[in-house]
Amino acid sequence: MRLDVVTIFPEYLEPLNVSLVGKARARGQLDVRIHDLREWTHDKHNTVDDTPYGGGPGMVMKPEPWGEALDEIIASGREGQRPVLVVPTPSGKPFTQELAVELSEKPWLVFTPARYEGIDRRVIEEYAERLDVREVSIGDYVLAGGEAPVLVMVEAIARLLPGVLGNAESHRDDSFAPGAMADLLEGPVYTKPPEWRGRGIPDVLLSGHHGKIARWRRDEAFRRTTQNRPDLIERADPAAFDKKDREM
Ligand code: SAM
Repeated sequence: MRLDVVTIFPEYLEPLNVSLVGKARARGQLDVRIHDLREWTHDKHNTVDDTPYGGGPGMVMKPEPWGEALDEIIASGREGQRPVLVVPTPSGKPFTQELAVELSEKPWLVFTPARYEGIDRRVIEEYAERLDVREVSIGDYVLAGGEAPVLVMVEAIARLLPGVLGNAESHRDDSFAPGAMADLLEGPVYTKPPEWRGRGIPDVLLSGHHGKIARWRRDEAFRRTTQNRPDLIERADPAAFDKKDREM
């Protein structure tokens, strides 16, 4: 998978050299290209922002550098290949595990993390005519820039790529994973030692009985979801829950 990120703070993306994403890059599973937006400016101050039309506080990112940068990046793709343009913005659609799965199946993503009050709207309109453009929010809060959202999204997407996680099974039981866990949150997890500060672990986990362990995990997932995210239970397909769930 190829990932391009256009930013005025390339150094902010350095964590993409570390850990899971860094290893995926080193193995050639991810081709990550970070671009400095200011390289597509032509004045001596490398200006990327200007005052907003209509007045108001803050600055808006100018369309010209974004247009030149995106045209050049898009043209660098293989013949006929078109990226999905991922635009981080608090006014976008929520970034969910479902969207992470969908984006992990695309061969090429281009991210446009902004600063100030965001990017001149015409840039989004222009590329929406040619590309699949996704305006995406990582949560109901406002950050100073889109670089941290890009780090969040890239990590969520990269760990879904085949061969990136050491154990391919790991993400199948994750919170929000469809299938056995029915989009529930993951329940508690334990490791050795069997006793720590007088606290043991649930007996069932030592039973070796796979069916009982799976049922326990499912019950704990249901309990935790009911406590922390009742909205997920309300939204879920009732067919995803069995008699035991409904008794809890
Ligand atoms: N004025 C904008 C608004 O209220 O929607 C906020 C702009 S914010 C200060 C600057 C940039 O940070 C955004 O354009 C976006 O790239 C990024 N950003 C901030 N919060 C975000 C969030 N929750 N999800 C995704 N991107 C975000």
